[in-house]
Amino acid sequence: MGLLTIGAFAKASRLSPKALRLYDELGLLAPARVDPVTGYRLYAPEQLDQARLVAWLRRIGMPLARIQYVCTLEAGPAAREVRAYWAAVEADTAARRDLATFLIDQLTWKDPLMTATAQPLGIRYAALSDTGLVRESNQDTAYAGSRLLAVADGFGSAGAPASAAAVDALKRLETESVPAGDLLDVLEDAVEQAGRAVRGVAGAGAWPKGAGTTLTAMLWTGSRLALVHIGDSRVYLLRDGELFQITHDHTLVQSMIDEGRLTPEEAASHPQRSLLVRGLGEGADGTPELRLQDALSGDRYLLCSDGLSTVVPTEEIRRVLSETGEPDRAVRELIALANESGGPDNVSCVVADVVELAQCTYRNV
Ligand code: MN
Repeated sequence: MGLLTIGAFAKASRLSPKALRLYDELGLLAPARVDPVTGYRLYAPEQLDQARLVAWLRRIGMPLARIQYVCTLEAGPAAREVRAYWAAVEADTAARRDLATFLIDQLTWKDPLMTATAQPLGIRYAALSDTGLVRESNQDTAYAGSRLLAVADGFGSAGAPASAAAVDALKRLETESVPAGDLLDVLEDAVEQAGRAVRGVAGAGAWPKGAGTTLTAMLWTGSRLALVHIGDSRVYLLRDGELFQITHDHTLVQSMIDEGRLTPEEAASHPQRSLLVRGLGEGADGTPELRLQDALSGDRYLLCSDGLSTVVPTEEIRRVLSETGEPDRAVRELIALANESGGPDNVSCVVADVVELAQCTYRNV
């Protein structure tokens, strides 16, 4: 078969002649021949595969420079490159979705119709961390103060100082006054600082083999709770007797569940169930999930490390949170339950109640 005119080639490849001329100029797809007299571009039928590939890569939004690179690769490496590109797009979208949710919440809160109903609220809280029955040392850090609630689960050779450094970096939020409009910037700065602090103590070993930590924290703003979450520690909300897990685990198995490649039951016994896809540490993706939570009087929050959620069934957690009065009793009972289930991991719990300001007593175990 002979060479095709640009019109015929455009039709066969479903690209417009205009796009073909652009791809030629960008070096993505040069015509097989350019007529020296007329300047017409002529294409070989064998170029159709590449033209179609370029068209589809454009459709998934890949930048031209990257398409150029993919076109130089064999099929196998090209597939890996497309997969890597798409994983980055999805991670970016997830991060922007979190930000969008945060902004919607914040703007909704600024709406005068919303604030008119606000009542003076406070939190009472307790934090407790335990080594468990199997591990030699406790690499978790749990903290509760009048404004900051935090759980960090350290791992690797310097896991304990890593989790402590992450939480310490957030503690300045306890005393700093944060104007509502600055909340997002302040949280972002605090997480960046926490990341630097963790890399400072974690040493040379790159994540995931080196040291690092999860970080799940809530900041009480006086009317709402801002959530920052990286890793597989969790936040649960008990509201009207029902328990909701409000964080998403940043683990390999959770991503596989989300993609429909694994059932939650299979994930529970998966050999790589503790493998994190986000965390704080050298080389880790430390993008936080961010959220603003409405505070309603009577709400009870639980922040916990996976040492609790892995071994204690959700229904048991719900029962203890519903039936136990004071936060310090609730954290003790939850940790006792984890240890009754073998205590295979360090376990940390922070419980915070949203109460009307009059009944507020601060407490830290
Ligand atoms: Mn753990």
